[in-house]
Amino acid sequence: MSFHTHACILSTGDEIITGQLLDTNSRYLAEQLTSLGISIVEFAAVPDDLDALVHTLRRLASRAPLLIMSGGLGPTEGDLTRHALAVATGQGLVTDEAALRHLTAWLAGRGRTMNERQARQALRPSGATCLPNAVGTAPGLHSRIDSPTPGSAGTDVFCLPGPPGELSSMWLASVVPMLRPEPSRVVATRLLHVVGIPEADLVTRLGPLMKRDRVPLIGVTASQGVLTIRLRMAASTGSAQAEQALDADEATLRELLGDHLFGRGQDTLPAVVLSTLRDRHETLATVESCTGGLLGALLTAIPGSSASFAGGLLTYSNDLKTRLAGVDPALIAAHGAVSEHVASAMAAGGLHATGAHHAVAITGIAGPDGGSPAKPVGTVCIAHAWQSKSGTSGPTAPVSVDVRRFRFTGDRDDIRQRAARTGLAMVYFQLFGRPLSEPRLLWQLDAPK
Ligand code: AMP
Ligand code: MG
Repeated sequence: MSFHTHACILSTGDEIITGQLLDTNSRYLAEQLTSLGISIVEFAAVPDDLDALVHTLRRLASRAPLLIMSGGLGPTEGDLTRHALAVATGQGLVTDEAALRHLTAWLAGRGRTMNERQARQALRPSGATCLPNAVGTAPGLHSRIDSPTPGSAGTDVFCLPGPPGELSSMWLASVVPMLRPEPSRVVATRLLHVVGIPEADLVTRLGPLMKRDRVPLIGVTASQGVLTIRLRMAASTGSAQAEQALDADEATLRELLGDHLFGRGQDTLPAVVLSTLRDRHETLATVESCTGGLLGALLTAIPGSSASFAGGLLTYSNDLKTRLAGVDPALIAAHGAVSEHVASAMAAGGLHATGAHHAVAITGIAGPDGGSPAKPVGTVCIAHAWQSKSGTSGPTAPVSVDVRRFRFTGDRDDIRQRAARTGLAMVYFQLFGRPLSEPRLLWQLDAPK
């Protein structure tokens, strides 16, 4: 018997094809297969259409020795998976007596009787076997699609029900025990997170490391100003060797990227900032205007945040900027609420009001209205103020301030998310010993002359 080294994943449903339903089954299956050392060759999704299903089943079967499919096993006219499998394998449909008994008992247990529609669910291609459904009505199916090339092994096809709870229970109970992953073959993955470098610059810095035929394979994705480097390596030599190769690459990347590389795996920027503050016995406060508490929410989402997050002032109106953060109304009148002057005053005021060691202030125009030629939508001023000498606090303690102006792109939500994360990035780089205003961040504008 050959091994299941590679797999394709197929989902069916008009609701998926129209964007009404997110295909979480494929993600679940991909994670499961990857963790078993089985590489994914292709994801596909098709509408509830017999021709599309048959064509795609055949095509994917020619690509990998394993094909996992979800959806289309229910009792309605739109549920065509078993019919498609019958056509693709050149078999007729027969009633599976054990499945029919299970179905009858399942319905009887709920005070319902079998009708023709329900009975469809007990049909299977003549050469297929049914997989029991412990939590729902529709049984799954297992069949083989022969390879058109004589002598070469065919493809194992598993069809699972669409409801995610039924899919995962059948997957674990019936499919996993039948899989034949190659012994000691692993797919090792690692995520490394980077901030403060534009994606194009990162790719340039990585240079030949990003070659598509390189092992481990390295890719980059960007989200809200944070870049994630993905390392992936399939190996037939066991996990220790693959992990060693990933360790070596991680060391190279750390060397190349220095403090821009802030974390790995599940690490997030707020979590890293909070743990760094905690190690230094320092605290952070926020003074938020256009982000409306988003930065505070990102920080308090991290368990244990109370050790280093003091709290925040939500100073949306000019009046509250003055009353809570002590911003001089003359400053707002002279420069506007969205200005470096006001952001600095908010941060310094927040420092004094809370007694924290660090304060981040954010004031900007998230849109869609409120922009002007001088300050278009997306203009945000962010200030980070900190007690210059550790151990001193109160109104007379010396304070340093890093203030910057940004022009974030995107809609209101993007602008607010990017502003909150950028505020964290400013604190992060200061904590890691960068000189004032370094490094220049994404979306940052030149300081006004
Ligand atoms: P089906 O078996 O195709 O009739 O699907 C039944 C239900 O399962 C759908 O109405 C969805 O709620 C859910 N479902 C089907 N396919 C998926 C999928 N790929 N990802 C997540 N949920 C799904
Ligand atoms: Mg469906």
